[in-house]
Amino acid sequence: MARKKVDSDVKKTAVKEAAAPAAEKETKAPVKAAPAEKAAPVEKKTEPVVEKKAAPAEKKAEPVVEKKAAPAEKKAEPAKKKAAPAKKKAEPAEKKAEPAEKKAAPAKKKAAPAKKKAEPAEKKAEPAEKKAAPAKKKAAPAKKKAEPAAEAAPVVEAAPVVEAAPVVEAAPVVETTPVVEAAPVVEAAPVVEETPVVEEAAPVLDISTLPRRSVAFIGSECHPFVKTGGLGDVMYALPRELVKLNCDVRVILPRYACIPRKYQDKMVYRGEFYMDLGGTGRDYYVGIMEYVCDGVVYDFIDNQEFFTSGNPYTNLVDDIPKYCFFSKAALAALNYMNWIPDIIHCHDWQAGLVPVYLRTLFKDTPVGRARSILTIHNLRFQGIFNIPTIKYWSGLPDSVFNMGALQQDYVNANMLKGGLAYADRITTVSGTYAWEIQTAEYGERLEDHLRYHSGKLRGIVNGIDYEMWNPETDPALAENYGLANVLNHKMENKKALQRELGLVEDEGKFVIGLISRLTNQKGLDLVSTIVPQVLDGNTQIVVLGTGDAQYEDSFRYYEATNKGTFSACIQYDEARAHRIYAGADALLVPSRFEPCGLTQLNAMHYGTLPIVRETGGLKDTVQPYNDFTGEGNGFTFDRYDAGLLLDAINRAKTVYFTNRYHWDEIVQRDMAKDVSWTNSARQYKDLYLELTQW
Ligand code: ADP
Repeated sequence: MARKKVDSDVKKTAVKEAAAPAAEKETKAPVKAAPAEKAAPVEKKTEPVVEKKAAPAEKKAEPVVEKKAAPAEKKAEPAKKKAAPAKKKAEPAEKKAEPAEKKAAPAKKKAAPAKKKAEPAEKKAEPAEKKAAPAKKKAAPAKKKAEPAAEAAPVVEAAPVVEAAPVVEAAPVVETTPVVEAAPVVEAAPVVEETPVVEEAAPVLDISTLPRRSVAFIGSECHPFVKTGGLGDVMYALPRELVKLNCDVRVILPRYACIPRKYQDKMVYRGEFYMDLGGTGRDYYVGIMEYVCDGVVYDFIDNQEFFTSGNPYTNLVDDIPKYCFFSKAALAALNYMNWIPDIIHCHDWQAGLVPVYLRTLFKDTPVGRARSILTIHNLRFQGIFNIPTIKYWSGLPDSVFNMGALQQDYVNANMLKGGLAYADRITTVSGTYAWEIQTAEYGERLEDHLRYHSGKLRGIVNGIDYEMWNPETDPALAENYGLANVLNHKMENKKALQRELGLVEDEGKFVIGLISRLTNQKGLDLVSTIVPQVLDGNTQIVVLGTGDAQYEDSFRYYEATNKGTFSACIQYDEARAHRIYAGADALLVPSRFEPCGLTQLNAMHYGTLPIVRETGGLKDTVQPYNDFTGEGNGFTFDRYDAGLLLDAINRAKTVYFTNRYHWDEIVQRDMAKDVSWTNSARQYKDLYLELTQW
């Protein structure tokens, strides 16, 4: 069994309030990765790329040609850079809280200020094209011809399942706005082709005869390096599955300081370059650290100015600059490595600008020929901030700030919205959610935009990784079991769980689990409302999660008042989650909305019956139990209502206590159900092939 544990020693995210008024809070739950370790000084493990490091002096002397009228006062812009510093030092913290208007940029760019964060390595020579830029920049602010079509077109009905008909190339033609800022492709100099250390390489079996395609995944989290939710699972499992389908996959991630030391230590220096960023008027270090595992290459974008915080997400004031930088650096890194994928597969708002960059600033660079896919894992998070700030940090041309693309309203721009406009295809993680997000109820104010682009939108449900989630080999369990012996051995796991959590040890009790981020999305207000009615003397409840104080407190209260029957584990604990999946009889997922949901899949695979609300991926993956035919995988309810949740729980209890034979049948059916990635990865591969027909 090759399950890779995320450090259980988890830190709770202290979600900072966004300072700016416009800053919506998009911070997700606590980071589940390891405790933040000090930012690894970016040591180059191998010798630096000599070719790239031309005379530092040259760089320093380079005049900054100001790009455009920058937004609001650029507070943290260093007035001067010191002459030839050996290392960049810390950037002033305020820097990122970007002001609205930046004043005229400094006439000359000096060398990095001593204050800059310990930026790895010396600044090296400026890329040739970059220097050439000035002339070009001034030239023609060009007419922006092809702005993405305005949303005006009232798309009438959101056709349900988006298993899209022949997808029309709805991608907005962004046309030739002559690249405003020179694409930060660094010198053409050859990349240091050091063979990265292949760690834990497993034989890649089963390479199919499908045509080969190369795919770059770009996203903000990935198990086992850093994970706050389902996105991290998908970024881990899908690339591995695609490798089996004859894909060449690279996953590009930020090199957060919180990535556990054991992975940091295995990364191999792959190169570095400097890249300009928006209206900041200076160049930023971009290091590339590489790690290879099971046929998947992970390239970490290194920059200590942006990625030193303990958690990937802090608040939008910091996150907007961070992910503008990341999106641009990811594309520049592909050019730098001279690895030009057929497909660039971006994930969520943090990579939302990638498709926009691809068709504007990077249009005429090698990577510009790749096709792009943007996957929505959770539409609630969009990366919305005021227009001047996003313009300032992204450096994108004015032409993309219109209502058909990045502009959200008079004041704000929306990074996800821009990506949706420019991506060649949009996917989300279930067919039902693909339909739901085109409605006002679930569309998070993007429903019109999504309906407009529905021709290129489709839903592909997630799977789970069968190596990570395997009750037969799972080292966290008290007793391993499989389909053949689940009925006996699950009981042992139930008793062990009761013991571990201080519940009354009685295999006759009906144990309900809940493993979740404790946020408004997850239907926890419904759960809180009905706990007293659920605890009828024959039932126990186990909650594992962290998040909003109101839910944490509510569950703590129930534990305090129901000793022995209610357990509130307010923590992130991967191993304990596995034991709850194995030891509980049923698992609650009453979400208000749920793009796909993984906990119900994990539960079914461990023979634990899901009790879910019929929304998003829950609806697509859990077929309601039918008393008459005996078919189904779990218990469901439709309207978001505490009474209906209680009713679903009571139906489950009735089958459990009065018709155990049927209950056991469902247990076995769920364990046998295919919830692996195989099917879904195949659908992604088909999508890649559809986009790259040659
Ligand atoms: P979301 O991405 O919205 O958080 P998903 O159901 O898609 O929800 O994925 C949640 C993943 O995180 C599952 O693998 C689940 O087991 C895991 N998880 C959630 N909370 C905890 C926790 N407190 N401890 C351990 N694992 C957790």
